[in-house]
Amino acid sequence: MKNIKLNFVLLLSCISFPIFAQQLTGADPTQAGANQTEAVEITDVIFQANGFGNSFMVTTPAGNVIIDTSLVTNAARHKELLQAKNDGPVKYIIITHAHGDHTGGINLWREEGTEVIAQEEHVEFVNYQYRLRGLFGQRNAAQFPGLAAGIRAREIPDGVDNYGATIQATILFDQEYRFELGGIEFVVMHTPGETYDHLSVWIPEYKAAFVGDNYYSSFPNMYTLRGTKPRWALDYVNSLNRILALEPEILIPSHGQAVHGFNNIETSVSRYRDAILYVHDETVKGMNQGKDVYTLMDEIKLPSDLDIGEGYGTIAWTVRGIYENYIGWFDGNPSSMFSTPPSDVYPDLVALAGGAESVAELAQRYFSQSEFERALHAADIALKADPQNESALNVRLEALQSLADQSENSNEKGWLQFGIRQTEAVANDR
Ligand SMILES: [Zn+2]
Repeated sequence: MKNIKLNFVLLLSCISFPIFAQQLTGADPTQAGANQTEAVEITDVIFQANGFGNSFMVTTPAGNVIIDTSLVTNAARHKELLQAKNDGPVKYIIITHAHGDHTGGINLWREEGTEVIAQEEHVEFVNYQYRLRGLFGQRNAAQFPGLAAGIRAREIPDGVDNYGATIQATILFDQEYRFELGGIEFVVMHTPGETYDHLSVWIPEYKAAFVGDNYYSSFPNMYTLRGTKPRWALDYVNSLNRILALEPEILIPSHGQAVHGFNNIETSVSRYRDAILYVHDETVKGMNQGKDVYTLMDEIKLPSDLDIGEGYGTIAWTVRGIYENYIGWFDGNPSSMFSTPPSDVYPDLVALAGGAESVAELAQRYFSQSEFERALHAADIALKADPQNESALNVRLEALQSLADQSENSNEKGWLQFGIRQTEAVANDR
């Protein structure tokens, strides 16, 4: 039982969770594609099983190539759907990157002699996720309670095992790896973006590009609230340019459906790339002008012709991600160098203001002016002085609920709902 729990935490800790706000909000992402009865035929040799994320099979006369293997909970269904189309031997499994919604089915698909291909940064990325599995387990349980239900007793590793992860890949490459199977050429390319071990697969004969999570239908989640290593904007731009230069006729992302026709692909991928580059360049410009991170989070907006939606990633988090990835945490204020946080003086400030009840009143005033973010800060300050203050708990709850009601971003909603559950738990304990 202990091991089952641990494995589930590991599964959760590595999920990238892109896409489709409506699927995620309140729904169980493991159910994505559950009603699919037949694999999608992208071409007569390329098949897709839908899920969170998708699995693909490319068939050749000499055996098959599997690209991405979805969540462990989707993998058996995917294997059944894809093998109903062709049950030839599995010669290669290619993993676009080491998030759990891409690696979950490796063991299920692997046969004797199957090669598993990943980019060489895969090793560090898998170890990184394993090293921090306790933290990611907690963050994912907060953000995705539906998925994490039943694992309340989370396994927290005792010590630190820096290089303890199991590496499933058998072929690792640096820039490019080419192979031929059944007369079909496969070109596997390092295309960092979503992760630094990210790869794309190019099949020249079909002009098909498998782009993993470097392209999906929202502004990318370039800073991930559950926590992630930097996702570099310029890496995305270069990787997307590399794909466009191939002039693909089929673009196959690991979340969502394939895009057909080079004209369509060029239009949508260029727009996606230009949106990322715009946010990057505006952030760099503002940093050089000496603007602080909050000013830039507030100021930078996509022009309407580059508006690719914020259902999953947001511009504000991306701006802050770029800012802090470039220069780290210090904001240039000498007060921030020390281990005493501003919140250490909140209780005395609250006393000066007449107590937690007065500060909760201020929070309520912000709330009635629809200043929900300020209301949250004021409630937090009151609660720092008096963690059980009923008025402050109530206004915090109302502000979180109002923000959740107006949010169209699945990650934002996830954390607001976490805050609501947390506040309710304190209120119920009073
Ligand atoms: Zn993914």
